[in-house]
Order: sequence, then structure tokens, then C-alpha cells
Amino acid sequence: MAENNFEAARKRSEELRDELNYHNYRYYVLDDPVISDREYDLMLRELIELETKYPQLITPDSPTQRVGGEPLPAFKTVRHTYPMLSLGNVFSDGELREFDRRIRRMLPGEKIEYVVELKIDGLAVTVQYREGQFVLGATRGNGIEGEDISLNLRTIKSLPLKLMGPAKDFSFLEARGEAFLSFAAFEKLNREREEQGEALFANPRNAAAGSLRQLDSKITAKRPLDIFFYGLVLPEGLGPKTHWEALKFLRDSGLKTNPEAKFCHDIEEVIETCRLWEKKRNELSYPIDGIVVKLNSFEQQQRMGSTSKVPRWAIAYKFPAEQARTRVKEIIVQVGRTGTITPLAKLEPVRLAGTTVSRASLHNFDFVRSKDIRVGDTVIIQKAGEIIPEVVEVVTSARSGEEKEFVVPDKCPVCGEKTAQVPGEVAVKCTNLACPGKLKEGIIHFASKEAMDIEGLGPAVVNQLLEAGLIKDAADLYYLQKEQLVKLERFGEKSAENLLNSLEKSKANPLNRLLVALGIPLIGSRGANILVEHYPSLEALMAATEEELTQIAEIGPKMAWSIVHFFQREENRRVIDKLVKAGVNTRAEQKPAAEDSFFTGKRVVFTGSLKLFTRQEAKQIVESLGGKTSDSVSKKTDYVVVGEDAGSKYKKALELQIPILTEEDFARLIKEKR
Ligand code: NAD
Repeated sequence: MAENNFEAARKRSEELRDELNYHNYRYYVLDDPVISDREYDLMLRELIELETKYPQLITPDSPTQRVGGEPLPAFKTVRHTYPMLSLGNVFSDGELREFDRRIRRMLPGEKIEYVVELKIDGLAVTVQYREGQFVLGATRGNGIEGEDISLNLRTIKSLPLKLMGPAKDFSFLEARGEAFLSFAAFEKLNREREEQGEALFANPRNAAAGSLRQLDSKITAKRPLDIFFYGLVLPEGLGPKTHWEALKFLRDSGLKTNPEAKFCHDIEEVIETCRLWEKKRNELSYPIDGIVVKLNSFEQQQRMGSTSKVPRWAIAYKFPAEQARTRVKEIIVQVGRTGTITPLAKLEPVRLAGTTVSRASLHNFDFVRSKDIRVGDTVIIQKAGEIIPEVVEVVTSARSGEEKEFVVPDKCPVCGEKTAQVPGEVAVKCTNLACPGKLKEGIIHFASKEAMDIEGLGPAVVNQLLEAGLIKDAADLYYLQKEQLVKLERFGEKSAENLLNSLEKSKANPLNRLLVALGIPLIGSRGANILVEHYPSLEALMAATEEELTQIAEIGPKMAWSIVHFFQREENRRVIDKLVKAGVNTRAEQKPAAEDSFFTGKRVVFTGSLKLFTRQEAKQIVESLGGKTSDSVSKKTDYVVVGEDAGSKYKKALELQIPILTEEDFARLIKEKR
């Protein structure tokens, strides 16, 4: 029984790790999360609980052990002088008291004081000054290494390029803070993006992160970013002895701190302050997602220490998702690119989490049925990090009897064709293969950021092009002429040229993007990346059989079926033909192989758990050095890199007499030959 429990926990923890690592990538690397922070937090909590119960399940690449995401290669990497850690989370008074008890247990009989600060919901940055001059600024990245965003940080008006006060002559000073966008700036930015047909930012945090991690500082300069500092790194022995003094020191040096920080004599005062801000957070003009509680004395902080991910002397109290009460004016239905028809509530506009909300997601018809949401109902909505909030519950006591029950449409809202429920699924779909609604969503998807990333081609422009009859499918985009575009409303010479240029640029995208853009059911970015590792061209993938595809570890039978059937369909082949004729690239990115690398042309297999790299990182390194990686050992394998607890692959390598490298050998070889 116990063994069964362990086996189930092992499987679940593996699933959670994969899921969370994927969401970390979306959130930290792409600034484009696909789930709410609350959902993320719940998954992380589940993983922490499993790992606490079974510590043997902890792996070095577990999101419980690592901070944030990897730095983007487009920026210069900066190694932090001191790790930039994340914060542990608590959600209740009880957990705050437990945090206090833990500190008292480790520092028995000592005087414990706290500083309470707002947890600004932006992007953590670090800035360095030498002899009082700003010299470097970086993102947190993976906590050890971040991205050099000095040029972008220079555009923030509240960031001093020269320090004042006591710090101005210090040989070195580093400050840690949070760069953020106010609600007003965020809403303005999203309004502009909507007009330009660009994808909207989900929340001010993503907008701030996206703005600061721009390769073009001119774009950053247009976004009114601001910054609050909350941390100080000085040469040993210099400066303040407590966090409270450090905040004053930062202020005196010209580095802006948040005015709401509060000194607290004990945990009860801390809890009171958290309560207060939970009520008052709406009064702030910038986003916060909780309260940070820090032990005041630096010397005590040092004795408490940190784990690899979080300090033990600080904790974040996270607010529950914000809720608001409003009325459902109408329930509309929309058709997505796969034909799925989804309901959406139009609401009486209401302020929620700093923005005005007039729509709420209703997910699917089962959701509407199970919550019994009717037109005219008073509802409680909640927002937990995403653009569109969701309906939490109906206030049935507020019903007048006039509310109208919602009837699942039997016709598609766009083409009027019959709808059908997919057997075994909740989804209701439009049955018309050529439904213009599907087509429109398909083209919007084709141009989107994670697909062909065609700047200036958002929903509004796609709509215009379809209505003007200029395009009938995504491939037609590449045949657009300037003369046609300038005739459209809101299009001038310049915007027409810009659109044509972005289309031209997108032709060179690597195959993985094109695969995402084609919208093959079940194949998203992850699937596409896996496919291009095995198929160097679209032609090769189109010739693949289901059997062949299922040989790839990460491609299941449903995905294989979906790929083969997608390419068999006449209408898809026609679009692909047109894309090819227009000159759209159908080859996978050629990874530049380093000259004279130890791994050039070598096939490497990793086994066991690695300490210095995640499996993914190690594989990427080999590939970037011109080698190939595989998940199974065969006669063709050149090296097997063996981590801890290696099992059957290690045995097989011994049997086949394949040279074995330890992880340390591997680390040394990549350093030497890079
Ligand atoms: P965190 O945001 O929970 O806490 C740490 C960060 O708080 C610091 O790095 C710093 O940037 C910030 N901070 C703000 N004010 C501060 C202050 N006064 N003092 C100290 N730090 C302050 O941790 P994280 O590791 O940045 O992010 C984890 C959170 O991000 C998760 O809990 C989740 O909500 C969200 N997330 C969401 C997704 C998703 O897909 N939706 C994915 C990954 C992470």
C-alpha cells in the first residue's frame, strides 16, 4: 500500500514538475503566462507537499528548488554578486504565526522585529553603482544569472544614474528593487496595443516584464516604468545594520523606496498590517499581490540563512484573489479556431484589481449549467492574474425572477451551421469545415506571438482583410499588395509598408513556429519543438507515418493521429502549397555547431539525476556544440553522461562498452571546448 502511495506520488510529482517548468517558461521567459497565478501557486503547493512527504522525490530541476526562469540568450548574461532569491508564500494568519514561531525556535530568547512592505507586482531587478555612478542593471533570471538590461533601466526616470548622500563615494553599491507599471500606464498600453492589433498583456506585471526585456530600448523608453527599491548589497561591514535602516539609506542615496513600509514590533502587528492592506489595496495606483514580511536585523537574517530558493528570514503573505460583484448583461458565444463554441458573459462594468472589467470567461456550457448563470444575474467575479476574470458564483438571493436561463445554441453564431457536442468532451463545436469564424480565429492564431509573430497583424486587421475579401486563408497574407492595403480604412502608406515588412520577415521563421501557426490540433509550442528535433523540414514531417511519430517519446498516439490527419486533408495541403510558393521557410533552425567542439557530431545520452544542469539544459548545451542527444543507449551512442542513481541506461552503456562521462567530466569538457 505504502509502495503504491509512493509510486502515485512519484508520478504526480513528475507531472507537476513538468507542468510547472513549462509555466515558468511561459511566465518568466516569454512574459506570456497561460494559467492564473492562483492555479500556479496551487500546483506548486501540491508539489511542495509531496516533496516534504517524500524528500527522495526532490530533483535539482524541481521548480521548488529553482528561482524564476533562464535568462534569454539575446541579452548578455550577468552573474549576480549575491543570489537573487524568490520568497516563500503564506496564505493565512496561521501560517504567518508559524513563520514567526520558526524564527523564534531558531533564535531563542532574542528580540524579534519585523519590517512589513508591499509586495509590488512587477519585475525584480538589481542595479549596481561604482563610485556613485550607475554601471549595470539586470533581471533576476534564474537567481544566479540574470539578463543585462542596463540600457532599458536607464530609461526609467526615477532611477538615478548618479547616487547622492552617503553612498555617492562608495566604491560599490548594489540595490535590489521591483520595476513596475502603474494601472493607468498598463491600461493605456493595452488600449494602444488593441488599436494596433497587437496581443494584450495579461496584467501589469507581464507588461512591465515585457517592457523591460525589450531588445530595443526605444520601446522601453515609451513605457512609463517606475521602480521601488527594497534591498541593499554593500561591501562587508559598511552601512546599515537593519533592514529598516537600509530603507532609509536607500532613500538618502536617491533610490526610491515605497512609502508604505512599516516597522512592526511583533507578528500580531504584522498580521494587522496585512489585514489593513487586504482592504486598502484598491486605493493604490500600482499593483501589489501581497505583503512581504522581513526580519529586521541583518545579523539575525544571516543566522537564519536561505534555502536554494528562498530566504528563511522573509515571507510573502499572498492576498486572496480579488473579487467584485456585478451583473450579467448578456451571454454571448464565440467560435474558436478549432470550432469550439464558448460562452462569455458581458458584464455591467466594474472596477476589479485596478482595472475596469466588462467581460468574464464562462469556460464552457457545462460551467454555465453547473453554476446556473442566467442573463440578468448578480454574480461574484474574481481575477487572479489573467486579463479576463471568471465568474465564481451567482448571488441567487439577488434574483428578481426576471433572469433568463441560457440555452446552448444549436447553431454556430458565425455561420449558422449546426453545432454538435464532441463525444466524451464538454466542448460544443461548429460542424462547418469552412466556417468563417473558425477561419478568422485560425488566421489570428497564425499571426500571433507564439506562432509566426507578425507584428501589426492583430484581430482587428485580420477582420478588415477578411471583410475586404483580400484573404481567404492564412497563406493569402503573403500575397497582399501595398495598393490593396492602402485602400483600407486606418491604413496609410507607412502602416501598409510596415505590415508587408513584418510579413516578409516572418517568412524566415524556423519550422517550429510555422508548425504552431498551422494550428494542428494538439500541437502547441512544446509539441512543435519536439517535432523539429526529429524532422528537419516540413516535407519530412508530412511524409511521417503515425507509427514513426509514436516512436518519439513525447508524442502520444493522439498527437500522431492528429498530425497525420492534418496533413492528409486537401484544404490544409492547399494552404501549405501556397505558403511554400510564397517563399515561407519550411526548414528547422540550423543550430550553429561550434567549431572544434568535443561533442561535434557525437551522440550523447544522459542518465541519472544531474546536479549542475537540468536534463533540458544539458541536452541544449550538447546540441549547441554540434552534438546530438537521445533518450536511449544504442551502439550508435558515443558517450553516456551519468548522474546520480543511474539505472538501466548506465548498465546498457557498460554492456555495449560506450565511454562513460561523469557530470563533472561533462562540465569540464563543455567549458574547455566552448
Ligand atoms: P514571488 O513573486 O512570489 O516573490 C518574490 C519576488 O517578490 C521577488 O523576486 C521580488 O521580485 C518581488 N518583490 C516585490 N516586492 C518586494 C519586496 N518589498 N521585497 C522583496 N521582494 C519583493 O516569487 P517569484 O518567484 O517571482 O514568482 C512566483 C510567483 O509568480 C508564483 O507564486 C506565481 O504566482 C507567479 N507565477 C505564475 C506563473 C503562471 O504561469 N501564471 C508562472 C510562474 C510564476
